[in-house]
Amino acid sequence: MRTDQPVLSVVVPMYDEEDVLPMFFERMHPLLDGLGVSYELVVVDDGSRDRTAALLLEAAKDWAQLRVVRLLRNSGHQAAQSAGFQRARGEFVVTIDADLQDPPEVIAEFLATARERDVDVVYGVRSDRSSDSWAKRTTARMYYRLMCRLVGKQIPFDAGDFRLVSRRVVDAVNALPEDGRVFRLVIPWLGFPSAEVTFVRAERAAGATKYSVSKMVRLAFDGLTAFSAAPLRLATWLGLLGGGLSGLFVVAALVIKLTGRSVPGWTSTVLAVSVIGAIQLLCLGLLGEYVARLFQSSQRRPQFLVGYDSLEDPGHHTVTE
Ligand code: UDP
Ligand code: MG
Repeated sequence: MRTDQPVLSVVVPMYDEEDVLPMFFERMHPLLDGLGVSYELVVVDDGSRDRTAALLLEAAKDWAQLRVVRLLRNSGHQAAQSAGFQRARGEFVVTIDADLQDPPEVIAEFLATARERDVDVVYGVRSDRSSDSWAKRTTARMYYRLMCRLVGKQIPFDAGDFRLVSRRVVDAVNALPEDGRVFRLVIPWLGFPSAEVTFVRAERAAGATKYSVSKMVRLAFDGLTAFSAAPLRLATWLGLLGGGLSGLFVVAALVIKLTGRSVPGWTSTVLAVSVIGAIQLLCLGLLGEYVARLFQSSQRRPQFLVGYDSLEDPGHHTVTE
């Protein structure tokens, strides 16, 4: 084991979290110091536009275990986690949100569970999601039910990105060639032995959600297209159905015409056009999703760019912003 390898790395992606940051550190600092293991706190600043970066560098002055990694631009929650995974050195890596919705006290339980039960993954499972809106809970439940079938593994429902993984898992994830990975799907898919710890998810301690609807939809589509071509097959089936329906329309129109009871077929025309139009659009949309994914991965663009890592900057204590 390398001597600079801490037992625990805690990875925290942060995007514009100046409001919650002081509270987060206030709770985290004594807690991590009291765990009784060597640790590093790797904060990945995901291109924040507010004072997050300045506050981080300030806090790092008198907290040796605090490591600041800054991405040059906002790359998204999952990409920030990827950056954290690549930089973390710990024997175990915990990912946690900055907004204190995931109670940091559970980290001790994660560690104990991993060691006692000798597992590589410990999922934090929310026993109570009443802090999330009804719409979010319902769509999440539907989505995870679908993804369970597609991934072909049991994905713990109500588990977000609050979890512990071992070094083996970190190395396996880092070795995946794909971009746009959705951690909460990729990790169960890898199939390492796992356990669960339940906790009650709190309200966001300060600030507003950094997950816009468009970011949420992006996450859902990234997960879906990464794991399954089933939607493409669905498009084929819908296309066949539409084809069958329009075939029936043609037969019906011919029969009506041949029996001499032909009427101006305005209604049926409009119906046929709209049904087929809708199906075509749906199929095109689904194809577009896959093509976009192929396009992105063929570009092999970096998923994120690291602009700064306080570990590589011995003089960071004198950095002023
Ligand atoms: N986050 C990030 N980049 C983004 C969006 C969010 O690093 O583009 C971080 C954010 O700072 C927080 C975590 O991801 O630590 C979860 O975000 P948030 O709490 O806003 O999501 P919600 O709990 O509302 O789903
Ligand atoms: Mg949150």
